[in-house]
Amino acid sequence: MKFCSLCGAPVSLTIPPGDSRLRHVCTRCGEIHYQNPKLVVGAIAEWEDRILLCRRAIEPCHGKWTLPAGFMENTETTAEAAARETLEEACAIIDVGDMFSLIDLPHISQVHVFYRARLRTPDFRPGAESLDTALVSADEIPWDQLAFHSVTRTLRHYLADLESGQWRFHHESIGRPLTAAPE
Ligand SMILES: [Zn+2]
Repeated sequence: MKFCSLCGAPVSLTIPPGDSRLRHVCTRCGEIHYQNPKLVVGAIAEWEDRILLCRRAIEPCHGKWTLPAGFMENTETTAEAAARETLEEACAIIDVGDMFSLIDLPHISQVHVFYRARLRTPDFRPGAESLDTALVSADEIPWDQLAFHSVTRTLRHYLADLESGQWRFHHESIGRPLTAAPE
């Protein structure tokens, strides 16, 4: 960030009084522009014994397969975000079920959340951000062509729970242990 989004003046990286981190602070109006982690929300959308995957038409990971997912928007719930992303990327309407996985990615300041969901009908096709969409069974998942580590982890958990018949909520961290570390 170079300029204040409120008044247009340059910002400087400084630690505000009472704070402990560098922030972008406006040199004219004093606004502190906080930057916080982003939430990515997606769905494991089931139809019978298959799940919906999308092949990405955009970077990052153009051409790779993913669960429908994307950045949460303001004023929506996480479940609404999962349904919206599935509609946008696969033109599919889902009924959102239980939250299935939450994956911390502190190295890129993101949190990824995936819900279990059901396709309302077996109707889907690529949205603007997808090259292709497909319903795949467990043994058809293209493991070496998945776009994101969080998707791989979530699908591993999904298959393990499917096999055991015991559905659990999965929380893990990629890149750093889950335990809270003091600064
Ligand atoms: Zn300003």
